Amino acid sequence: MFLHGTSRINDAGHLEIGGCDVTELKAEYGTPLYIMDEQLIRQRCREYMDAFRASGLGFQVAYASKAFSIMAMCRLVDEEGLSLDVVSDGELYTALQAGFPAERIHFHGNNKTPDEIEMAIEAGIGCFVVDNLVELSLLQAIASSKEVTVNVLLRVTPGVEAHAHHAYASTGQTDSKFGFDIGNGSAYAAVQQASDKANLQLLGVHSHIGSQIFETEGFQLAVERIADFTRKVKEELNIDFPVVNLGGGFGIRYVDGDTPLLVSEYVAAITDAVKTHFAGIGSSLPQIWVEPGRSIVGDAGTTLYTVGTNKEIPGVRKYVAVDGGMTDNPRPALYESKYEALLANRATEANEETVSIAGKCCESGDMLIWDVELPAVQSGDLLAVACTGAYNYSMASNYNRIRRPAVIFVQNGESDLVVRRESHGDIVVNDIVPERIAKKAVTK
Ligand SMILES: *Cc1c(COP(=O)(O)O)cnc(C)c1O
Repeated sequence: MFLHGTSRINDAGHLEIGGCDVTELKAEYGTPLYIMDEQLIRQRCREYMDAFRASGLGFQVAYASKAFSIMAMCRLVDEEGLSLDVVSDGELYTALQAGFPAERIHFHGNNKTPDEIEMAIEAGIGCFVVDNLVELSLLQAIASSKEVTVNVLLRVTPGVEAHAHHAYASTGQTDSKFGFDIGNGSAYAAVQQASDKANLQLLGVHSHIGSQIFETEGFQLAVERIADFTRKVKEELNIDFPVVNLGGGFGIRYVDGDTPLLVSEYVAAITDAVKTHFAGIGSSLPQIWVEPGRSIVGDAGTTLYTVGTNKEIPGVRKYVAVDGGMTDNPRPALYESKYEALLANRATEANEETVSIAGKCCESGDMLIWDVELPAVQSGDLLAVACTGAYNYSMASNYNRIRRPAVIFVQNGESDLVVRRESHGDIVVNDIVPERIAKKAVTK
């Protein structure tokens, strides 16, 4: 397994992250356990901030909190000077509870409800990324009723298909549920409508072309298309876009063969393209906003499991089951995502067998890894799966009424609980048995 960030194998032959031996973390917190390498998260934040500072352009780096939205993470991101994207009232609530400055919060989503819009306006968030005409009218109506003006970016699809690894991770093409298409004129019409709305301040456009992208071409092409669009809007409507938001999607290394670029390389490609294509449109270059999620937290996360049962099918394969699965990591089931693992309590031992790692849910698709080489695996061993920081905890479920794991931050030999493991009580906390049914059960 590739060792990210502060992960290393210590003298005892155990995996250590942030200076913490995972066998001790298991003793203290139990498994499954999400372990987040705080230093690596901060390093990724700084890579983005430093690269943009070096460009000389105005900028905001907004962490896409859907990748991993918890209060401690919001605090950390605020400390590092980033902005924050939210996609629901729940993510907004998390950020506000954590004391994240509302003016640096951006609200996304293709179906924001009236309640969500009201909540966000009352909180005084910095910007709404408007997805469609229904939302545009709704936002105007609510802003008008509250006698405020809200900042707006229009989400556009520039007709770029990013080379993402799975079709569901592409969003910049014309046939997408998200945004106004530039090619068919709907983005232009949306700009006209937005600029007519008294309580909306149009800042510019937003595009997000996909996820887990390993090249710069898609971003550069998006910049070029958006610059052409911006020039047309300036010339024909005399409207300026002070902000251009280029979304997220910067790739990370999950397994051997994944070839992400450095953060500085993605940012330089984008800012250079902006300088080239936006030169001469209006009086100054726009501010550039980006929205990395996965590349801020993905490789900082490791999930620690305890090995339980196994099943060997002679001549076919050996299944090794762990105490979690699709409930804490649905990505293999959803996207056929690949992961690497190691035996964290015997990390220096030579690999002896090829096994497949199964979860404990009642689904044949509940597999975490097909065919991973490990030392001879026994019950009670600790299995570490790397690169689980993004879209794991945030996508976790209670399927089979399995309790969601705890999350800890580790750094400098210390560990801090940032999300408590769910209790049995948590599992039934919202259940209600109606009186008439409860009575029947008693009288039976
Ligand atoms: C999901 C998403 C992001 C973050 O994507 P990553 O691949 O995690 O970087 C950014 N912006 C928008 C609009 C998104 O939907």
